[in-house]
Amino acid sequence: MDQPIGTPAVPRSVSDRPTEQEAKEAVRVLLRWAGEDPAREGLLETPGRVVRSYNEFFEGYALDPVAILSRTFSEVEDYDEIVLLRDIRFESHCEHHMVPIIGRAHVAYLPRRRVVGISKLARVVDIYARRLQIQERLTAQIANTIDEVLQPHGVAVILEAGHQCMSTRGVHRPGVSMVTSRMLGVFRENSDTRKELLSMLNRPSVATPFE
Ligand SMILES: [Zn+2]
Repeated sequence: MDQPIGTPAVPRSVSDRPTEQEAKEAVRVLLRWAGEDPAREGLLETPGRVVRSYNEFFEGYALDPVAILSRTFSEVEDYDEIVLLRDIRFESHCEHHMVPIIGRAHVAYLPRRRVVGISKLARVVDIYARRLQIQERLTAQIANTIDEVLQPHGVAVILEAGHQCMSTRGVHRPGVSMVTSRMLGVFRENSDTRKELLSMLNRPSVATPFE
């Protein structure tokens, strides 16, 4: 059965991780599958490069977002307004085709006692993005983790992304973006809070996206 949406991926066990040599060999097999000669000069270093890229694309399996948030919050008594971090660029890979999903995340929460540095919120987005994903689960995991660790009055996560499995293959539909959201606590229950968030999101950004 599929892992339920929102359940953190289980970190892979070290013992069943293939060796780097095995991973490079697998890349050579795929090169041959594509019709190439892995012994061709231009491709000799490719398996090594692909393996190093995979270390980067999928580094999120080895990182624990709960630990990152737990270490860094501070207790505040009197801040009771929405904190919104918008236009967080993220890069992920779809678990069905292993091609990029590139988009922006907007992460908001209404603190109860705990606030975190905004870079930590972006870090949580990155850690879950750097795994094989579907956008719905990515959205839920980010929201659930912030909810669990900070225990705020509410969390809202909105993701907008382009899926290269849709633009460069299959139905070939560039320019389509998918929007997903997960609202918890007051953002789910209170329409005024949700409206306030949406109006914050609709304001023109002072930052340049994708800079
Ligand atoms: Zn896909």
